[in-house]
Amino acid sequence: VSDSTSSDSPFAALDSAANNIAGIGRVVRAEFVTPRMRRITVTCDELAAWPPGLGWNLSFRGYFSKPGFYDEVFLPPLENGTYGDTGAFHQEHAVVRIYTIRRLDVEARELDVDFVLHEHGLASKWAESAEEGSGFGFLIGTLAMMAAPLPEVDCLVLVGDETAIPAIANSLAELPEGRRAIAVLEVEDAGEEQRLETRGDVTVQWVHREGLPAGRSGKLPEAVRSLPWPKGCVHAFVAAEAKEVGQIRLFLRNERTLVSGGGGSVAGVGGAGGAGGPGTYVTSPYWRLGSTTTDEARSMQQLMQDMSNAPAGTSMDDFEDARFARFDDD
Ligand SMILES: Cc1cc2nc3c(=O)[nH]c(=O)nc-3n(C[C@H](O)[C@H](O)[C@H](O)COP(=O)(O)OP(=O)(O)OC[C@H]3O[C@@H](n4cnc5c(N)ncnc54)[C@H](O)[C@@H]3O)c2cc1C
Repeated sequence: VSDSTSSDSPFAALDSAANNIAGIGRVVRAEFVTPRMRRITVTCDELAAWPPGLGWNLSFRGYFSKPGFYDEVFLPPLENGTYGDTGAFHQEHAVVRIYTIRRLDVEARELDVDFVLHEHGLASKWAESAEEGSGFGFLIGTLAMMAAPLPEVDCLVLVGDETAIPAIANSLAELPEGRRAIAVLEVEDAGEEQRLETRGDVTVQWVHREGLPAGRSGKLPEAVRSLPWPKGCVHAFVAAEAKEVGQIRLFLRNERTLVSGGGGSVAGVGGAGGAGGPGTYVTSPYWRLGSTTTDEARSMQQLMQDMSNAPAGTSMDDFEDARFARFDDD
């Protein structure tokens, strides 16, 4: 298991907010990957500053102009002369949304982002109507902890709805020859399935909502419960709607006896439960039904504040319990 914070790690280059990269991405191409997912390619000279050796499975913050400001595109604000990110979710002219870097080509200075077109949010609507020259501000770097390499376990179990397909597709594409993985992916219907490149020994199970509401179909938790469980040490990554992620987390913890691997993405796994143990999980609520990312960031900030006064001995699990308990009433 690699330590993404050690100084000889390429990820160290992004550990400090001072090394964040910010810019304005302008659309050069757009295509429909499926009827409900649009791949937008933007270009920006600042991408040339990207550290070598990093290029997959990072997320970034996109700054999408609010109504009334559509003619302008906004950069993330400078804080103390750097692109820090504290408080950055609360912007006057733009909403801040998190997306996965689907492809980054530093030489061509191009970035691909796969947007789910879900019809409710500002970023989704931006992606639906984006055309050549449209743009958004972006900030990459402070979420680099999410980019550590995949852990070497007997089997990876990668679970997500369509918002996590970019992260999971990138992970599968990185798998070494023959590495075992199971991907369980929820989409609307067969027309939303994608071809996923990999050299690994991968089983993909597509789960169709078929008209049931995204985030409340119950199909993803059900599919994970019914999965013939792989032998050996497992690392599970789960990213989807918050409440459903919470249900899957409880199953992994209580019934599969995996332990929290910490971090926030496919990658950020600590050593707990490693070789010989049942394994680890990382659960990431990518979106929350009925709540914008801005609202959810505010609620999370409040939770962090509350937890900062928690008694000594409060564990990561306690923190996660509190984090997911907020979704129980949704
Ligand atoms: C690390 C990370 C990586 C992510 N990567 C991607 C990615 O590559 N591609 C991608 O499309 N998304 C990705 N997401 C999810 C994305 O950030 C959210 O879906 C976000 O809410 C979209 O912003 P919005 O402005 O469209 O909607 P918001 O303004 O945030 O929300 C408006 C309304 O839309 C609803 N909503 C939000 N997302 C969905 C959805 N998918 N389906 C149905 N209803 C929804 C909300 O519940 C809310 O009621 C990622 C999230 C995280 C945390």
